[in-house]
Amino acid sequence: MLTLGGCDPGPAHPAAPAQEQERLLARARMVREQLVARGITDARVLEAMARVPRHEFVPAGPRGEAYEDWPLPIGHGQTISQPYIVAFMTAALEPKAEDRVLEIGTGSGYQAAVLSGLVTEVYTVEIVAPLAQRAEADLRRLGYGNVKVRAGDGYLGWPEAAPFDAIIVTCAPEKVPQALVDQLKAGGRMIIPVGSPWGAQELVLLRKGPGGLERQVVLPVRFVPMVKGR
Ligand code: SAH
Repeated sequence: MLTLGGCDPGPAHPAAPAQEQERLLARARMVREQLVARGITDARVLEAMARVPRHEFVPAGPRGEAYEDWPLPIGHGQTISQPYIVAFMTAALEPKAEDRVLEIGTGSGYQAAVLSGLVTEVYTVEIVAPLAQRAEADLRRLGYGNVKVRAGDGYLGWPEAAPFDAIIVTCAPEKVPQALVDQLKAGGRMIIPVGSPWGAQELVLLRKGPGGLERQVVLPVRFVPMVKGR
C-alpha cells in the first residue's frame, strides 16, 4: 500500500523494507550454501527455492531461523523440512511445467508453494485439519492459486484427481501405500521416505516403468511418521 501524507498507518505489521531485503539475502545465501554447495543443480528448482518466501510458512516463534539449515516446528508436533531436503525431493521428481503433482503431508504448505511455480497443478493432503486450514490460508494469501489443499488421510491419495505425473510424500509410512502407486501415471515418479516411525528410514525414488515399479534408495532420512487415518 502506498501511503501519502503520513496519515494512514498502513497494515498493522508491515515488514520493513530493510527486513525484506535481509530475507532476500538470507534466501540467496541458503540457495548457495545449502543447495548448490551440496550438489543441487536443477536451475528451475534453485530458482523456485530462491523465490518462495519460506519465512511466511514458519510460525512467528522460529521465524528468525527460516533460512537456516535445519527443520523447524510448525505446531501440532509437526515440522517444516530442512531446505536441502525440500530441494532434493523436488529435483528428484523432475517437475515439468505441464505436470500435475500430488503431495501427501501439506504441513506448512511450503513444499506445495515450491512446487506451485514448477508445475501446472498441485494437490496436497494433510491429516491434521488445523494445519491444512492454515496452509490453505497462507497459500491463498501469498497467491499460490494452483494449489488445492484437502484435510484428509493421505493413505487414500486423491482418487478423483488421479492419475498424477509425480507424487511426493513428506511423512514416512512403513511401506509404500498401494493407493499412491495406483494413482501414479505410467512413467510417473514418486519420492517417499519409508521406514519405522521415528527410526531408520530411507528416501526412495520410484518410477512406474513399462516393466513395473523401478526402485532406487537415494538418501537416509528422518521424517515424522505417516499416521493411519481413523
Ligand atoms: N511438506 C511439509 C512438511 C511436512 S511434515 C512442509 O512443507 O511444511 C509431515 C506432515 O505430514 C505433517 O503435517 C503430518 O501431519 C502429515 N501427515 C502425517 N500422516 C499423514 C497422513 N496419513 N495423511 C496426510 N498427512 C499426514
